[in-house]
Amino acid sequence: MNDNDIAQAVSNVLSKYTKTTPDVAPQAKPAATTGQESDPLDAIIAKALAQQPAISVVREPMTAGSGAFATMDEAIAAAVVAQVQYRHCSMHDRATFIQGIREVFLQDDILRTISRMAVEETGMGNIEDKFTKNRLAALKTPGLEDLTTGALSGDNGLTLTEYSAYGVIGSITPTTNPTETIINNSIGMLAAGNTVVFSPHPRSRNVSLYVVELINHKLADLGAPANMVVTVTQPSIDNTNALINDSRINMLVATGGPAIVKTVMSSGKKAIGAGAGNPPVVVDETADLEKAARDIVKGCSFDNNLPCIAEKEVIVVNQVADYLIHCMKKSGAYLLCDPKLIQQLQTLVLNEKGTGPNTAFVGKDARYILQQLGVNAPSDTKVILIETEKHHPFVVHELMMPVLPVVRVDNVDEAIELAVQVEHGNRHTAIMHSTNVDKLTKMARQIQTTIFVKNGPSYAGLGVGGEGYTTFTIAGPTGEGLTSARAFARNRRCVMVEALNVR
Ligand code: NAD
Repeated sequence: MNDNDIAQAVSNVLSKYTKTTPDVAPQAKPAATTGQESDPLDAIIAKALAQQPAISVVREPMTAGSGAFATMDEAIAAAVVAQVQYRHCSMHDRATFIQGIREVFLQDDILRTISRMAVEETGMGNIEDKFTKNRLAALKTPGLEDLTTGALSGDNGLTLTEYSAYGVIGSITPTTNPTETIINNSIGMLAAGNTVVFSPHPRSRNVSLYVVELINHKLADLGAPANMVVTVTQPSIDNTNALINDSRINMLVATGGPAIVKTVMSSGKKAIGAGAGNPPVVVDETADLEKAARDIVKGCSFDNNLPCIAEKEVIVVNQVADYLIHCMKKSGAYLLCDPKLIQQLQTLVLNEKGTGPNTAFVGKDARYILQQLGVNAPSDTKVILIETEKHHPFVVHELMMPVLPVVRVDNVDEAIELAVQVEHGNRHTAIMHSTNVDKLTKMARQIQTTIFVKNGPSYAGLGVGGEGYTTFTIAGPTGEGLTSARAFARNRRCVMVEALNVR
C-alpha cells in the first residue's frame, strides 16, 4: 500500500464517520518549514483532510472486520492507516473505546467461552482461573487515567509534559496467558493512543484470533476507526520475525520466554521485554504458618502454575519446615515421598536434557500428573510437594506446573541468599512469609524483583487481594515493571514561553 492508497483510505473513513461543523475542524499540520524532515504520516493526513469538509467525530457504526489479515504486511498496513485515523479521535472517544473493550470481556458468557477455548486449544491451565484472569484484565488494566500530565510553571511560562502515542506497536503474546495479554495490552496500548499488531503464539491461534475479532466488532459498533487492533490469520515464528523487522512498527512488546525477549531487545527498535521468572517463596520462623501454607498452595496452583509470577519453589527455615509441610498438606498439597516415584516424576515432567519443563506437562493439573505415575490422589489435590535439595532441577528451572519443591535451610539469612540465587537475576517476582520487618526489608533489597509479595499469595502482586492495578506484561528486563498505558507512550514536552503561568 503506498501513500496515495493510505490517503484514500483515510479519506474514505473520515467521510463515513464525520459530519460538517464549521467550528471544530482539526487542521492538518502544514508540511515542515523548519528544514527538518516532515512526518510522512502528517503529509498523508494533510492530503486526506484536504479532500474533506471541516469535521468532528460522530458515532456511526462501521463495517465490522475481524482484524485478522492473511499477511503480516497487510496487518501492519491496516494498523498504520488506523493509527492516522486514531490521532483525530478525541480523548473522550478513546475512553469510550476502552470502556467498550472492558464491557465485552466483563460478560460472563464471553469470559467462559474464551477461557474454555484457551484451555482446550493450548491444553494448559484451568477454565475457572482463566475466567478470573480474563476478568481481571478487563477490570483492572489502567486506562486513560494512567496518562497524567506533568506541569511546570514559573517566570518563563508554562511547560507541560504529556504521554503521547508511540504509533503502531507490535505485541508478541504468550501461550500461557493468551487472551489475558491481548485484553490487557489492547486496553493499555489504545489508551496511550497507539494501534497494535498482535503476533500470538501459534499454539493459541484460534482463541487469540477470536479475542481480536471481538475487540474489532465492539470498536466498529462504537464508530472507531477500523483495524486499531489487528493480527494475522496464521500466527507463526516467521510472522513474528516479519513484525519485528518491519520499519512501520514503532515499538515492540514481547511477553514470553528469554529467546523472544532477547530478540526484541536486539531489534534496534524501542522494545519492552516481559520475560521469564522463577519466583521463590521464603518462609521463616516468624511467619503465620497456617496462612503461609494456604497462600502458597493457592498461588502455586492458580491456573495450574502458568502465571510467570506463581510460586515455583519454597525455601523454609528448618525449625518450621515440618509444620509448614503439614499445613500445606491440609490445604491441598500432596507430598510425594517415594524416591522412585520422585525419579519417575522427574523423567516425566522435565525435557530430555533436564534443563527445563517437558511442554506436554506445562500447565497440567496436579492430579493428572500424579495419575501418570499411577498415583490416585484425593480430588482436592492442587499441588505436588517434593522435599529436595537446592540444586535440584525442579528448584533451578521454571516449570510452570503445580510441582512444588521444598528446600530446608538453617536460618532466614540462608533462605534469602538461596532465593536470590534461584531467581537467577530475572528481577521478576518473589514472595516471603514473615513478620520480621528487618528480614522482609533485607529480602526486598537483595532480590531486586519487580514484584515482591509479603504474606500473601503471588497473585496479590497482580491486584487480586492486594492493592494496585493489574498487568499481564511484567517488564523486568527492560525496567518498565508492571506495564500500563504510560509504558506504551512517549514523553513529550510542550512549552509556552512567558505566558499562561498565573502566579
Ligand atoms: P515463548 O517464549 O515460547 O513464546 C512467547 C511468544 O514469543 C510467542 O508468541 C512465540 O511464538 C514467540 N517466540 C518465542 N520464541 C521465538 C523466536 N525465537 N522467534 C520469534 N518468536 C518467538 O513463551 P510461552 O511458552 O508462550 O510463555 C511462557 C513464558 O513466558 C515463560 O517463560 C513465562 O515466565 C513468560 N511470561 C512472562 C510474562 C511476564 O509478564 N513477564 C508473562 C507471561 C509469560
